[in-house]
Amino acid sequence: MRSLLSLLILGGLFAPRAAQAYALLTLDDGTPVRWQRDPVSFTAFADEAPLAAFERAAATWSAVEGAQITVQVRPGPANVDEPFIGYDREHPSENENVIAFLRRGWRFDPRALAITVRTFSNVSGELLDADILFNAAGHRFRVLAHAVAGDGDGRGPADVESVAAHELGHALGLEHNEIDPWVTMAPTTGYGEVWMRDLAEDDRQGAAALYPATAPAQEEARELSGGGALTSPVTTEGGAVGCSQASGAASPLALLLLLAGLVARQLRPGAGARAALRAARRGSVLCLAALPALAHAAGHASVPVEEYFREAEIVLRGTVLGVEARWEGGLIMSRVTLATAECFKGECPFTTHFEQLGGELDGLVQSVAGVRPLVPGEEVVVMLTRRGEVWEAPLVQGIWQVLRRPGGPAIAVPLGPGEQVPLVLEDLRSRLRQAFKEFARRR
Ligand SMILES: [Zn+2]
Repeated sequence: MRSLLSLLILGGLFAPRAAQAYALLTLDDGTPVRWQRDPVSFTAFADEAPLAAFERAAATWSAVEGAQITVQVRPGPANVDEPFIGYDREHPSENENVIAFLRRGWRFDPRALAITVRTFSNVSGELLDADILFNAAGHRFRVLAHAVAGDGDGRGPADVESVAAHELGHALGLEHNEIDPWVTMAPTTGYGEVWMRDLAEDDRQGAAALYPATAPAQEEARELSGGGALTSPVTTEGGAVGCSQASGAASPLALLLLLAGLVARQLRPGAGARAALRAARRGSVLCLAALPALAHAAGHASVPVEEYFREAEIVLRGTVLGVEARWEGGLIMSRVTLATAECFKGECPFTTHFEQLGGELDGLVQSVAGVRPLVPGEEVVVMLTRRGEVWEAPLVQGIWQVLRRPGGPAIAVPLGPGEQVPLVLEDLRSRLRQAFKEFARRR
């Protein structure tokens, strides 16, 4: 056991950077989620300068060599205040892909710069709609000519073109690259930075894998014999495809990787260890879920547990009893029922119901990158806020999955994007208890 652990750690610390680290959004069976039309058009509700930035970001993806996909952006009517977000299943042909700045009513993590809500078929994986929403309520967006210093008030400026390039990647079917922090599909960026607008080789490879310019031999054969849906699975070394672990059941390899990550962190908390940890966590997120990892947002720097703890109204550990999806306008919301086992903050109900954006309903899946849907049987630690009478889990770094194995410590794995690392559950517990003491003292 010991030598295996050492090998894993060394592999994580010293292996050359993975040649392919991009991740694709997939169905449970590994079928990639992608558009089956070309071009893909977006209607943008924005002024001239941001519109031009959107067009440049779209052109960046359209220009990828080896990928056959054209992304277009056209201006929306000026008199529309709030475009329809999500998917209109009553009028499927009227759905528009939207890019818009939300100046109020942001219901997601306040730290997110933007999110992309993707709707696709749970049978073919065909993308049917993608809406990109900029969090203009929480951040100051600017069309930057070059990198600048942050404003210093923690609100901006965020570069429109860089964020658009990242979110368009999600809209095409790409997930986060959790390994390399300097690619367009990395989950975080900083204020005033513009590097994300230029695709890295890994981003281009991801696009080419999803939309190969040259059809694979199999597909050509099918086309010659009279067509067939373009759904042959694309595989990557990222491990995102073809992973079919049962929900909530940790594979021995995933647990080993997690342990390796924990040990690696204690040995050497440098960039290599962080990469190893991210790799370990990524493996766990993608391999332990029954549903494919749902999609998210740029701009999640690592946030200390304690900060989220302060923002949450209740913090608890429990087991997911059930998940029920429903439509709310064009959005699929999942209502999660949790049996409370331990309460860290607030008055936790015996059975807690809370809502999560995204889910599966009526043959459709809706997904926001970075938001991993919970599945029955999972044990989790969640940080919840209240909207009216309803508990919600908007803090994407505020959900942890608890993994247990015989003879070892329980481990809490963060499910959100960003740089949070797995913790031994007991460590998370003592940090939460300490956070509560400070919270109670200040109150
Ligand atoms: Zn993202």
